Amino acid sequence: MPERIYNFSPGPATLPVEVLQEAAKDIVNFNNNGIGLIEMSHRSKDFIAVTDAAESLIRELLAVPDNYKVLFLQGGASTQFAMVPMNLLNKDKTATYLNTGTWAKKAIKEAKMFGHVDVAYSSEESTFNHVPAEEQYHVDPQSEYLYFVSNNTIFGTQFHGFPSSTVPLVCDMSSDIMSRPVDVSSFGIIFAGAQKNMGPAGCAVVIIREDLLDRTPDTVPTMFRYKTHADKGSMFNTPPCFAIYVVGRVMQWLKNLGGVKAIAEINQEKAALIYDHIDQTDFYSGHAQKSSRSLMNVTFNLSTPDLEAKFVAEAAAQGLDGLKGHRSVGGIRASIYNAFPKKGVLKLVEFMQEFERRNG
Ligand SMILES: *Cc1c(COP(=O)(O)O)cnc(C)c1O
Repeated sequence: MPERIYNFSPGPATLPVEVLQEAAKDIVNFNNNGIGLIEMSHRSKDFIAVTDAAESLIRELLAVPDNYKVLFLQGGASTQFAMVPMNLLNKDKTATYLNTGTWAKKAIKEAKMFGHVDVAYSSEESTFNHVPAEEQYHVDPQSEYLYFVSNNTIFGTQFHGFPSSTVPLVCDMSSDIMSRPVDVSSFGIIFAGAQKNMGPAGCAVVIIREDLLDRTPDTVPTMFRYKTHADKGSMFNTPPCFAIYVVGRVMQWLKNLGGVKAIAEINQEKAALIYDHIDQTDFYSGHAQKSSRSLMNVTFNLSTPDLEAKFVAEAAAQGLDGLKGHRSVGGIRASIYNAFPKKGVLKLVEFMQEFERRNG
């Protein structure tokens, strides 16, 4: 096998190599049964065990309380932008949203199709370079829910404390789920596309408090009702089998490493290496305000777009791939999710120093 490069892609993103190797084997011959994992019935005993293991590892790692369901759904995180208001909002009611980036904005657009939306805060005018402190916005106690994005993948900002609202909290955790401990009991719904911190594309994990399952208006089609999937253990129809399997293996990898508390410390260390370097020089400037800095997606700029393009190209030539910022903001983005190795971060910082020496 050729040496693996360091993959800073924002998603799909780097996964633990041992999980990939195991998956490669299981795709051909699962459990030595003479049948490949993605050829088996989703209702077979072996596959139900795969789903059960993935669910119980998620429950264990995040200490999910018993009155929450864990669902494996299709349609990515983006389908949740619509499913949340379809199930929890209707045209006479209001939901509150915090507009902290592209993904929040897309969710707001969907919610407006189902009811009133109160955007209680927006950081758009400052190119989404921060997330608000709680004193900066007001949530109407009559609101159906408060929606926010815990980590803004594109802009590189992250909530380091969560709203303490009395209305149900709905959180898009696509790009930082499993990166740190969270108190699930303070949320109504947590959802995440798997392809950043949990596994491959094709599966969204939804953690939902049971009392929210009964609010859905009768007009919502069967496949878009959370209760449909909750009642059938995510087996109402054919689930994303391969993605669920890989999520389970990544969760086992995380558990072996010490779980979310252990990975949170590693994530702090990794991100600090890059931010410390950004703060030491004027050659690089961080996009996010310091108190909102993301530990998952580090965004920064050089003095000109040309210099940024040169940085990205030269880094790629040295095996540091995927550093180009999102097309909507430009600049550099280093996505360093759970499975991204510290060695790769050290190599990036070394490259940043060397690039500055040659171009500063
Ligand atoms: C990537 C991402 C999404 C979109 O996920 P899809 O699975 O492609 O729909 C939504 N929200 C956040 C925060 C993301 O990072």
